Amino acid sequence: MSTHQVINPATEAVIATVPAASEQDTKDAIARSAEAFKTWRNVAPGERARLLRSFAQVVEANIPLLAKLEVENSGHTISNATWEAGNVRDVLNYYAGAPERNFGKQIPVANGVDITFREAIGVVGIIVPWNFPMPIAGWGFAPALAAGCTVVMKPAEVTPLTAMKLAELALVAGIPQDVFQVVTGSGRVVGETLVQDPRVAKIVFTGSTEVGTSIMAKCAPNVKRVTLELGGKSANVIFEDADLAKAAASAPYGVFDNAGQDCCARSRILVQESIYEKFMEQFEVAVKNVKVADPTLDSTEMGPLITAAHKKSVESYIDESLVAFRGTAPTGTGFWIPPTVLAITDRKHRALSEEIFGPVVAVTTFKDEADAIELANASEYGLSGSIWTNNSARAFRVARGIESGNLSVNSHSSVRYWTPFGGFKKSGLGRELGPDALHAFTEEKNVFFNTDI
Ligand code: NAD
Repeated sequence: MSTHQVINPATEAVIATVPAASEQDTKDAIARSAEAFKTWRNVAPGERARLLRSFAQVVEANIPLLAKLEVENSGHTISNATWEAGNVRDVLNYYAGAPERNFGKQIPVANGVDITFREAIGVVGIIVPWNFPMPIAGWGFAPALAAGCTVVMKPAEVTPLTAMKLAELALVAGIPQDVFQVVTGSGRVVGETLVQDPRVAKIVFTGSTEVGTSIMAKCAPNVKRVTLELGGKSANVIFEDADLAKAAASAPYGVFDNAGQDCCARSRILVQESIYEKFMEQFEVAVKNVKVADPTLDSTEMGPLITAAHKKSVESYIDESLVAFRGTAPTGTGFWIPPTVLAITDRKHRALSEEIFGPVVAVTTFKDEADAIELANASEYGLSGSIWTNNSARAFRVARGIESGNLSVNSHSSVRYWTPFGGFKKSGLGRELGPDALHAFTEEKNVFFNTDI
């Protein structure tokens, strides 16, 4: 079997060698998954719930190990990685409450009884990107398993280690063999096979809009169900009536968390022109205070980028003539870029429209509320965003005006496992998390029982 080396992005050291599965390996995993589905779908709801809670407990016991693996493999800070492993536990616990509550409806009809059932959809292929390997995996596999589906999951080539560990932990927790499998390898081989194989009933894909649109097209011939979580270019909109000190102090953490490799990164800051100078003064202080350092340290706020190639792509956006100011970062080994702020006046500049996916933020100004909404919406994406204002009527108007799936007012929070998450426009299709995610893994069946016989 061919293999693939895994590299620590903070040190550039090779930390593991993992299998690069072939098309046949992937098809074999799909066949095992289809076989396992026949029994998993019929496990009593209470027992499926118990097994998911057991999985959550085993994840809980392994949080330090999972977090350490993620720091080494992805360069995430230890505090972020610990939160991420805890998020997998929380999402498992949340959907462990779902099997016994997978209700249908009884709909009034004449001469009989009409009932709807929510039936498990079948084998689900989950394709995960490298930027948040643990949470994104859990958002797919926890509700899928709860619904009675079986899962074949492909992590990103460069970040497979926590996914492989989670598959081991599932077995320790008592999840039956082949119900949750992880297959490591390339998108072109393993990912494509999951997308094309008719035995896979649904694809949950998180990644770039480019790959996501091609996957959607390839799912079409089989009318394969698909959930897509794609790119973003979210706006942090700051009005003159905002608490400027709080808006400026928090703005770096709205974009530079995970070194800006976050689909929800507020990578456009739109500031009302009347407060632009004051904002930039305070923002500069905050950016220079971001602690970019060894991700294993508790005090570190931002680590390295994922690969040398990605670092190069992010650097291509840093036009020195537009740099307003920068923070600091280690030099030497590792894929480091300091937090970088670009001041942009040309609204057509590519730094305002393209997803940079690194610690680079573009700041520009707007005139009034209507201009702010127009500028925020001048994007093919619509995933996230923030609105800073102390005028609550304005907060409501602007929140309703911005075309985006997840907005926060006077904060930068995007994701709570019990609220829905997903994108407008080219940021995606469907929603994950929240009370309705189970439905994404079921088909609704309607049955009429004739009593007039
Ligand atoms: P990517 O699209 O390159 O890869 C994502 C996954 O798809 C990887 O596992 C990859 O191996 C696989 N893949 C690649 N080509 C494939 C193919 N032809 N068929 C099937 N699978 C294939 O994305 P990435 O660089 O890993 O991740 C960064 C992107 O993910 C960014 O655009 C980011 O915004 C997006 N993202 C979105 C969300 C969200 O929830 N909306 C969350 C995180 C990341």
